[in-house]
Amino acid sequence: MKINIAIDGPSAAGKSTVADYLAGKLGYIHLDTGAMYRAVAWAALKKGLKLDDAESLLKLVKRMRLDMMKDGRILLDGHNITPDLRNNEVSMAASAVSKIAALRSAMVERQKEIAKDGGYILDGRDIGTVVLPNAELKIYLVADSEKRAQRRYKQDLSSGLKSDYNLILKDIIKRDYDDSHRAASPLTKADDAIEIDTTDMSFEEVGEKILALALNKIARGEEND
Ligand code: C5P
Repeated sequence: MKINIAIDGPSAAGKSTVADYLAGKLGYIHLDTGAMYRAVAWAALKKGLKLDDAESLLKLVKRMRLDMMKDGRILLDGHNITPDLRNNEVSMAASAVSKIAALRSAMVERQKEIAKDGGYILDGRDIGTVVLPNAELKIYLVADSEKRAQRRYKQDLSSGLKSDYNLILKDIIKRDYDDSHRAASPLTKADDAIEIDTTDMSFEEVGEKILALALNKIARGEEND
């Protein structure tokens, strides 16, 4: 039996890293929903669109072909844009475009369709509440903002990117605020999500903890089959 796992939480809480870890252990597929908003933001910046121009952004989304590959690559109209999506400018732009309700609906529809047969781990802000309200396992990851900024800073340096700790921290705090206070699907913990504070945990510890929860759900599902 294949379940779906929803992982939500604020930016840089380690959702993607942990989702990759679980996908490897369970043989499931990780869909990084933040990368979908980042891809739209990247395309909008490239075209010089205003990030609050709902009509033009929606037209862009309808015209663009976005392929979320099983290996994590993101293809926009056939081009691999994965390495361009992780900088601060795109992060802030993704947070801006994701406020638009109609754009969110288009993304959510896609995400539901991808995960419909189970065996997926989706990470984002609204997975447990909106995208997969029936997911068998829902996790809500949190961590201190300083710790999240330190992790992102180290990640950037080890990927060979230029980085600025203070800028990352400022952006994380702003995105936390914007993502939690927007009208359309604000970041909230689903009532039935399990909250894990990762501030003093390694990614492996977090991964192993969620893996144990997932294996338990899978075993119980098989018993009931
Ligand atoms: O997860 P990540 O930091 O890559 O997401 C980038 C931005 O996309 C977030 O700050 C958030 O505004 C938006 N997002 C969202 N809903 C999701 C995933 C991401 O609104 N499911």
